[in-house]
Amino acid sequence: MELEKWENKYNNSYYYSNVIDNILTYDINLTGFISEFFTDNYEYLRPFKKYSAFHQFIKYIIFRFFDDDMHTHDTKAFEYYEKGKELPKLYAESFLDSYDLRLDFSEFMDGKSIITWQDIEEYHEELALIGYIEELCETLSHEVFYVLFNNRDLLIRFNHIVSQYVSDLDPLDFDEEDNFKDYFKDIGKLKRVLIPSWCKKAVFYREKGRCCLCGTDVTGTLRSDDNYHFDHMVPLFQGGINDVSNVQLLCSKCNLSKGKRDVITSNYYFKWY
Ligand SMILES: [Zn+2]
Repeated sequence: MELEKWENKYNNSYYYSNVIDNILTYDINLTGFISEFFTDNYEYLRPFKKYSAFHQFIKYIIFRFFDDDMHTHDTKAFEYYEKGKELPKLYAESFLDSYDLRLDFSEFMDGKSIITWQDIEEYHEELALIGYIEELCETLSHEVFYVLFNNRDLLIRFNHIVSQYVSDLDPLDFDEEDNFKDYFKDIGKLKRVLIPSWCKKAVFYREKGRCCLCGTDVTGTLRSDDNYHFDHMVPLFQGGINDVSNVQLLCSKCNLSKGKRDVITSNYYFKWY
């Protein structure tokens, strides 16, 4: 299988990874906008999208972060302008440069000598309108995913939150034209679907071919579900989703002894060498 190559600039990946980690660890009511991610659109229900539910979530959080910064900035712009002080840059602006998404401010002003705070606001609006902010958030989501995909404990926390929303969903509440209702088996439960091979490979390599619970090396075994199993960390019948972030590798023994209701993983990892 051909793997996609991309350039990871590690542009504040750890900073945003930490933001996501905090959101998933502490009281999510502190960040009330989380529920908007799960109730404004339901893309995260689509089974095994390569741009996974977790990617979407990361992108959404970073977008909200930039959006808040922009609003604060626009409020401050007037104040700074009144005092004749130079306005600090947006968080997003410093990143835009490094991804060649630069919209030159003076070009945007088209030689205008007196710059008002409305101009700055318009410049910010333009950055959003031409899609630069969205593109930036998507790019950063790949970088953060790259860091966090290794952390199964954090992925369980994410999937646990997802499941609380999924559990409340009734397929009959979706419009006919959306096919979201086809993904459901029942109220609050998604259908089981075949796990695509790209997802199995990703998980297999992340676990270095070893069972997450007991560490048994399954690389020598035949490619068969008799020897190892791709497990939904949060089970479908508990509102779990079909997403690469919700899958782990278990040996058949651990899979059989794992209780139906268990949501478990381990924090054991194998060293690089
Ligand atoms: Zn095992």
